[in-house]
Amino acid sequence: MPEGDTVHSLAGRINLLLGGREMGIADAPNPRSPLHQRAPELEGRTLELAEALGKHMLIHFSGALVLHSHLGMNGRWWIAADGEWPRARPWLRLASGPALAVQTGGRLLRLSSEVRARNDPTLRALGPDPLRAGFDLEAAARRLRSLGADRELGEALLDQRILAGIGNAIRNEACFAARIDPWRRVVDLSAVEIEGVVREAERIMQVSLSDGQRPRGVHRADRRGCPACGGPVSARGQGDANRTAFWCPRCQR
Ligand SMILES: [Zn+2]
Repeated sequence: MPEGDTVHSLAGRINLLLGGREMGIADAPNPRSPLHQRAPELEGRTLELAEALGKHMLIHFSGALVLHSHLGMNGRWWIAADGEWPRARPWLRLASGPALAVQTGGRLLRLSSEVRARNDPTLRALGPDPLRAGFDLEAAARRLRSLGADRELGEALLDQRILAGIGNAIRNEACFAARIDPWRRVVDLSAVEIEGVVREAERIMQVSLSDGQRPRGVHRADRRGCPACGGPVSARGQGDANRTAFWCPRCQR
């Protein structure tokens, strides 16, 4: 599943290629697309700004219309400068001259007014996003401590209401970088440990956004072993969603 760093990167690319431009094509050829009927409403409008809020993307158009997208597990954006269309029948096509942005699949794709998008309960409930301007590390750490208290750290980090944009890979790497066992309960962690893991999550996401890839630690390293000590990396499903936690029992305490 694309995590917040990926969605921020996609939004940046949409701004670069389509920002400030009028949509020459806006349609949804796939009949299964939630926007099959409404996508043409975007034709002729100017794409003002694409922004990521955690794993959600909002694309603002002239006339106070907003496209709200969440890729979920299987959705994809295809963004190209040269007019090369993907073969799949997309859920949404936006193009201005040769530049295009295409979404296939996804958990959510809808058009709404600016007012409705601003008041969307899911978006309003999102915790702070480490990649948004003004991210406050101490406030985010307090939020993790208060909302995640009785939960295991690795599970709490996946809750978008605590921190927005963190998915399975980032939480595994953040716990590893901070050298904290993801199975410990948040209430048992010191203030320094909590701040440490939030700081590592932010750092990993920043690195990923600037370099185009995340630092490689323990995530999916159960075969190659721990990059710090060379020992075996453990893997086990965690939380209600049973996402696989990867951790080094020797390095992470
Ligand atoms: Zn290790």
